[in-house]
Order: sequence, then C-alpha cells, then structure tokens
Amino acid sequence: MPAPLSHALSLLNSVFGLPAFRGAQEEIVEHVAGGGNCLVLMPTGGGKSLCYQLPSLLREGCGIVVSPLIALMRDQVAGLTEAGVKAAVLNSTLSWEEAAAVEQRLIAGDIDLLYVAPERLLTPRCLALLGRARIALFAIDEAHCVSQWGHDFRPEYIGLSAIAERFPNVPRIALTATADELTRQEIVDRLGLAHAPRFVASFDRPNIKYEIVAKQNAQTQLKAFISERHAGDAGIVYCLSRAKVEDTAAALNRAGIPALPYHAGLDANLRTRHQDRFINEDGIVMVATVAFGMGIDKPDVRFVAHLDLPKSIEAYYQETGRAGRDGKPSSAWMAYGLSDIVQQRRMIDESEGTEAFKRVSIGKLDALVGLAETAECRRSRLLQYFGETLKAARCGNCDNCQSPPQVRDGKVIAQKLLSCAYRTGQRFGAMHLIDVLVGRLTERVKQFGHDGLSVFGIGRELNERQWRSALRQLVAMGYLQSDNEAFGALKLTETARGVLKGETEISLREEPAQRPSRTRSRRGDLASSPSAAGDTALLGRLRAWRSEVARRHGVPAYVVLHDATIDGIASIRPRTPEQLRSIPGIGDKKLESYGHDLIALVNAEGN
Ligand code: ADP
Ligand code: ZN
Repeated sequence: MPAPLSHALSLLNSVFGLPAFRGAQEEIVEHVAGGGNCLVLMPTGGGKSLCYQLPSLLREGCGIVVSPLIALMRDQVAGLTEAGVKAAVLNSTLSWEEAAAVEQRLIAGDIDLLYVAPERLLTPRCLALLGRARIALFAIDEAHCVSQWGHDFRPEYIGLSAIAERFPNVPRIALTATADELTRQEIVDRLGLAHAPRFVASFDRPNIKYEIVAKQNAQTQLKAFISERHAGDAGIVYCLSRAKVEDTAAALNRAGIPALPYHAGLDANLRTRHQDRFINEDGIVMVATVAFGMGIDKPDVRFVAHLDLPKSIEAYYQETGRAGRDGKPSSAWMAYGLSDIVQQRRMIDESEGTEAFKRVSIGKLDALVGLAETAECRRSRLLQYFGETLKAARCGNCDNCQSPPQVRDGKVIAQKLLSCAYRTGQRFGAMHLIDVLVGRLTERVKQFGHDGLSVFGIGRELNERQWRSALRQLVAMGYLQSDNEAFGALKLTETARGVLKGETEISLREEPAQRPSRTRSRRGDLASSPSAAGDTALLGRLRAWRSEVARRHGVPAYVVLHDATIDGIASIRPRTPEQLRSIPGIGDKKLESYGHDLIALVNAEGN
C-alpha cells in the first residue's frame, strides 16, 4: 500500500497537477505552513511561487503576497484562477468598486491568495483592512527590492518593515533570486527575519546552454543563431543602445524573424503593447535594452542573446536567467569582441562614480571578460563566482564543454603584438596593428612608413581573425589598454614589460574554426524522430486550441497550459481522463475545464 500523501503533497497534486516537490520546496512549505518565518533564495524558475502559494492554502485565512510588478501579479492571479484557486489582486489598476468588492471578499474569508502592491499595502486603510481579516501569511516577493545597494531598489519596500511590527504573529516569507550577501543581510534586517532560517537553493540553471562567441558581424551571427537553433521561438536580444535596439529589430524583421523593439525612449503605451505581445503571442523576439525584463514571468523564453557585453557577471546571470524558466532546454548566447571591453571601460571612466566605485566596476567587468575568455567550463566559472562549486568539473552543456577550445603557448604571439604596438608609437588601434603584423600595405601603413619597421609582416603565420582574438585576449589579460583620449589607441601597461622580456608565460585560447552549425535545432531533431509527424500535427492542434482559449479568457497562453504540459500531451496521447490527469500541469480543475477538449484533440488523430 502506498504511504499516505502529506496534505501539502496532495494539494500540490490536485491543484497544480504536479507529482513531486522540487529541491527545498517541501521543507519550506512545511516550515511556513507550521507558522515559521524564512528567507528563500532560489534562482529564477526555481519554483518560488509554490513556497507561499501552498502554505496559503494549507493555513487558515488568506495569504498576502507583496509584489512590485503589476503585470506579474495579474498573470499569477490568472494562473491560480485557472487552477481553481480563489485569488485576487489589489492595486492601482482596479476601480474603486472593484477594490471594494475584493475587500469584502477578503473580510468574508472568500480569498485564499491576495496580491497587493507595496504602496497600497502600506496605506492606513489597507493596514486596517488586514487587521480585520484572517491572514495566513505574508509573502514578500522580489525581496531584494528593499536593498538600497541593489540594482532594483524600490523606496516603497522600505516601509514593509511595518508588517513585522503590526502582525508579529503572522508568518513572513521573503523570496528573491538575487544572491549576494550584502543584499541578504539587508532583507533580514528590514523584514525582521534575524532568527528565521534561510533556504538557499543552488543557483545552477542546468537547462540553459551557455555560449559566448567572438563577434565578427554580430547581426549576421545573431540571425544565423536564431534561424538555425531557435526558429519560431520566443527570445530576448539585449543591446546597449536604443539605436542599436531599433536597428537590430528591423534587421530581424527583414530576415523574417518577428521582432519588436523595447527601450526607455519609446512611448510608454507602445512599450506596454510590445511587452504584452511578447508575453501573449508565440515566437516573438524582443530586442531590448536592460530596461526590459524585470518581472517578466514568461516561462517559455527559449533564448537570451547579448549583442553587447553587460557590465558584470551579476547582470549577465540575471539577464540570461530569463531564459527557460519552465526547465526546458534554452540558450544563453553572447557575441563579444574587443570593442565591447573598450566601450564598457569607457563607460566606467566617464561615469560620475567615485574612484572606489570605478575600481569595483572595473573588477566586475574584468570578471565577466574572464568568463568570456575562459577555455574552461562556463557554468563552473559562473557558479564559482557566486560561491558555489559544480559537482563535476565540466557541465557538458556549454560551448567550452561541447567543443573544448585549444589552448596554446602564446608567448611569441604576445611578444609580436606588444612590440608592434610599441614600435608604432602606441598611437594605433587594433585594425592598424593587425595590418602591420600581417604585412598589408595600406594607405595608412605607407603614410606612417610602418612598412619599414622590423615588425612589418612578422605575423603572417596567423590570419586576421586569429590576431583579433589574440589581441582581445591580451587586452582582457590587461597587457594592453585602450586609451579613450586617443581614440582607442592601444597602449602597453606596466605588466607588458614582463611579456616582452620573455619572463611571463602566456596561454592563448584558439578561436575555433568558423563553426558549422553542428547542433541541430530542436525542431529539426523532432522532425526526424519516428513518431514526429503525428506529434507535430497534434502539437500544432494543441497550440492552436490553447491560443484560442487564452484569447477567450484574456490571459497569456502559458497561463492556460505550459509548453511542458502541451508537449507531455503530444507524446503520451492520453485517451482517458486518468491518463490526462497524470501529466504534470493537469490538476483537478484543469481536467474538469479542459479534459473533454484535450482528449477530443488527441482522438481526432488519424481518423
Ligand atoms: P520563480 O518564481 O522561482 O522564478 P516559478 O514559481 O514561477 O519560479 O516556477 C517556475 C516554473 O517551475 C513554473 O513553470 C512552475 O510551474 C514550475 N515548477 C515549480 N515547482 C515545480 C515542481 N515541484 N514540479 C514541477 N514544476 C515545478
Ligand atoms: Zn560546461
């Protein structure tokens, strides 16, 4: 006889249609359901929502969820309602009458989960209302927003310390995906969690494939990446400037890839419209500055591409982390070149910050450049940065693991390059130095008489692309520095002396030869498998049905059913309600609402 399910597990199954807890979820749910406070640190997509949703259902009264993002609240409430949970939202988008109705339901005990914007929660009116209601718990989502040091500081979050004072006996659970210790400490202080346990999940995102390629023609590379590996998928492309966002979006559209621009210079209505389309429609690529992404809860973003270098590993990890929340295979792809390092350095130099701030910023940039240049496993590098060690030395799901780059002795190459910069007076940029090394008689070379130098043509053993890569690595290692005052001229640093004297050992990573697209696309793989034809037809029907239901209910498609659930149906082809109910994502309510339609879609096959 199977052991009886715990109450939490049976709710997980009946309401959310999920067979098992993930990681620390169970422990957290039991802790909070038992009345405890805690801090939960989990990466994006780790499954934080269940950590407060289930205890809210298990405890008496209503769970109050504080969230800064209106779009996110709306989608969460829609998703819960689809699953048959009594959920509501209180924020500035409601009319007075609508808000009054929600308040009445709360007092009557007719709501299990209520999402409230922080500024709303802190009004005397709302606090008094909560005082009269039965409250199961307070969940503070995106808790790092209390941190004045963090990048998402929200002043209204500071006031949330009032919760612990006014409702000392109601459990508090704070959740965030931000890792650093300073922020954690601030959350603990401000939300009164000094004696509460911390649940820290691994920050690894095993379903994301990390890949960093040398930038040649970034737009062409991006188009190839999308069409070969992610045709028809939803994704985000990050660029640094508004102009580049517009330009890239236009180029993708011309190539038949549906793309929308998003940046702070666009009218707010247009921005919202683009965001809504990205969330609600299938297969849209959002080309954006970093202004886009915070609070985007879309689970089926299949790739995040960077056309410019972010400013730190934290930023890179947060941005790439928006891919693959649903746990399915996804890509983090970045094209990076020498100009990226130069540009970011210049932005730091020209920023208003103090010297100390600039030093910290340069350190962070160097760490990211180190990640881009490493020949080791990217994932293990990333996790090390966050103080975690990967169990295996190689993850098997990054470019360096899948096609390990050659590393060779770079001493002579470095010496040739550095002496070329030195002999030409440290007044020239990358292009000219390479021309001299490979012995190209350009106008400039003639004009400055550089064809008469001893370094002219001493580097014919490498091609231009290889020199470019070596040069970038020497800049990344700090032997060469670009001079902003002198239009990016490359100068030797103090440490270059050791290299020129032959005292410093240098290894250089070899650029892999122009990589043929060996990795076949997911869709390509699917199409060649035996049962694929049927799968594809059924998948198409399921998706069309889902879009239609989503349109009717006015919710995003993934709120109706996640991709993983749709895929599960297509491969299992359930013909009975019991078979359908066993697919993750189908709980009691969804079976009741959609079971009939879904089984009919499966049965429509082949007859
Ligand atoms: P977070 O808020 O931490 O970014 P979510 O709570 O939105 O993550 O969950 C991310 C995804 O993981 C969702 O698609 C959710 O349905 C799924 N998920 C969460 N917990 C489980 C579980 N125990 N089993 C299967 N899927 C889960
Ligand atoms: Zn790896």
